Amino acid sequence: MKTRNVVGMDLGEMEAVAAALGEPRYRARQIYAGVYRHLRRSWDAFPDLPKALRARLGAEFSLAWLPVVETAVSRDGTRRSLFEVSPGAHVEAVFIPEEKRDTLCISTQVGCALGCLFCVTGRQPPGRNLAAGEIVAQALTLAADRGPASRRLNIVLMGMGEPLLNYDNVLRAFRLMTDPGGMAVSPRRITLSTAGVVPGIDRLAREPVRPNLAVSLNAATDEVRDRLMPINRTWNIAALLEACRRFPLAERRRITFEYVLVGGMNDSPDDARRLARLLSTLRHKVNLIPLNPDPSIGLEPPPPERVLGFQQALVDAGITASVRRARGEDIAAACGLLAGRARGEAGVTPGR
Ligand code: SF4
Repeated sequence: MKTRNVVGMDLGEMEAVAAALGEPRYRARQIYAGVYRHLRRSWDAFPDLPKALRARLGAEFSLAWLPVVETAVSRDGTRRSLFEVSPGAHVEAVFIPEEKRDTLCISTQVGCALGCLFCVTGRQPPGRNLAAGEIVAQALTLAADRGPASRRLNIVLMGMGEPLLNYDNVLRAFRLMTDPGGMAVSPRRITLSTAGVVPGIDRLAREPVRPNLAVSLNAATDEVRDRLMPINRTWNIAALLEACRRFPLAERRRITFEYVLVGGMNDSPDDARRLARLLSTLRHKVNLIPLNPDPSIGLEPPPPERVLGFQQALVDAGITASVRRARGEDIAAACGLLAGRARGEAGVTPGR
């Protein structure tokens, strides 16, 4: 009976598999490269392995990505995929093509316990942590869908869930995705976005190789952030920004602060000036994200001129701030809209 999936194994574990099968160590490197670099999806697709070994691997190990139960493609080319991670449990990941790069936004948990007011995922009941293989399998699937693209690949751990509450599995997935013998994505091209789990930020700071850090800040006062993000009652703005100050940054690297603009809540010129004061001593860039509305949220984005006014107030105060262009709005793939359930709307196809 097949008990173990090789997707999620590191090279050392594959070497143990090769040894258990009485195979030389280099076979493990072939399998590892086949799974993570060449994106092979079945044992038959390994021409470099002897047929008898392929048969034994097939009998004892699965090579399983996650089943895709629904795919939606946006007018702008953004593609949202719904994966079934276990019976009844789903996560979503988004492929965002751009002129010079492709970005994969992948999930780290089923649902999310943090309940941010502006986020559809936060309305879902909290589920479970994804295993490293389940995180990597999303990236493999979306990367394979690109075809022979020459554009650079960026990966953002920004989909459903709080990555730092699934620390060990997320870091293991990060190591698998960056391993030069496998997917070989540069660590500088992977960004982890947190709602502000301070002990997780401090732990990440001690890793020898780290992803870029993005912090979902969304408010310039504790009063507003308490309402938007309940996690602020555990680690408030001062504690969060102290952790950011402690976070070691390589030369020319900055922390990205995401700021979802919610009409009438955090979008005033005073909010912009307060935000500028908070960030003035940090190496920062600010991503302004006008709220992506959803009926289940009951909040609205500010009008466009207010968004631009907020950005200008930041720029005038010396803050590097850009407005993130919404991608995949028509297929509910934009930031904060991932629900982890089938929708069956127009433009959506079951499976792949
Ligand atoms: S914004 Fe992130 S941390 Fe907050 S509820 Fe949504 S998925 Fe969770």
